[in-house]
Amino acid sequence: MAENEYQRREAEEIGCDGLLGGIARNLYSHREIHASIATKADGPFYCPTCHSDALIHKCIEKQDHFAHIARLSPTIGPKESALHYQCKTELCSLLRKAHPGGNWDIERPIKENKEKKIPELRPDVSGRINGIPIAIEVQASALSITNIFKRTSGYAKRGIAILWLVPLYKPLGDQPFRPRLYERYFHSLYFGRTYYWWADQGLVLKPVHYDIATRHIEYKEWYENGALMTGGDYEANYRIIKNPLYGPDAKIDTNFIREPRPQFTPINERKTVPASIIWHDTHSSWWKK
Ligand SMILES: [Zn+2]
Repeated sequence: MAENEYQRREAEEIGCDGLLGGIARNLYSHREIHASIATKADGPFYCPTCHSDALIHKCIEKQDHFAHIARLSPTIGPKESALHYQCKTELCSLLRKAHPGGNWDIERPIKENKEKKIPELRPDVSGRINGIPIAIEVQASALSITNIFKRTSGYAKRGIAILWLVPLYKPLGDQPFRPRLYERYFHSLYFGRTYYWWADQGLVLKPVHYDIATRHIEYKEWYENGALMTGGDYEANYRIIKNPLYGPDAKIDTNFIREPRPQFTPINERKTVPASIIWHDTHSSWWKK
């Protein structure tokens, strides 16, 4: 992949292209500096567009560049496949107990339908609640957005409601963090909330709204080519870093309903989410007071 293409994809993943030009600012002086001349000692840096912290990267294979740094949610990676499996089996056994007639299973294949252009599907957990077919996808492997959309659309064409959830190896906590690209799309798909699961929650999910997070930018004056420059003294909204705002706990079988959604493109995103049938919670929007 060409370096520019790689950087463009990285910017989409992060949700900000403010560092693509190779310029960041010093956190205290607000002076801009180019990656080709910046050293670690010139920092700390931040991105002039989204106000997140940035680091200077100097490596042989790549052009010198700045990169965003922020806390991410503690998702389950390839190393924690046991926990991924535990999540699926736990959900499945609890759903079997609560809805014994629901034919619950893990990784049950649904055959491809070439005529209707439906790919083969293999939901992590699937079954029925009060006769409604439901698929639960536990997003642990880093599925691409394209793949997530293919599955979402495939389930809709089969009349199956989809619940995407994000399993974590520890609680998300209350500190601001930067949702990944797929977390942002889930957030849009489920009307402003992403569903997180961690151990000991059983069928209870934590619906999290991504609320605005801000950072204070200090006031500074400096001279540049003889002219007085000023900067800072304002509260800046982070663009890609959010405060997790928890809604009431949501139990998969009792607090959720089925709802068809036409295709749409989320604000600030590039890709269109296909028509879907979502399995979403019924709590009113707790972030709107
Ligand atoms: Zn940025």
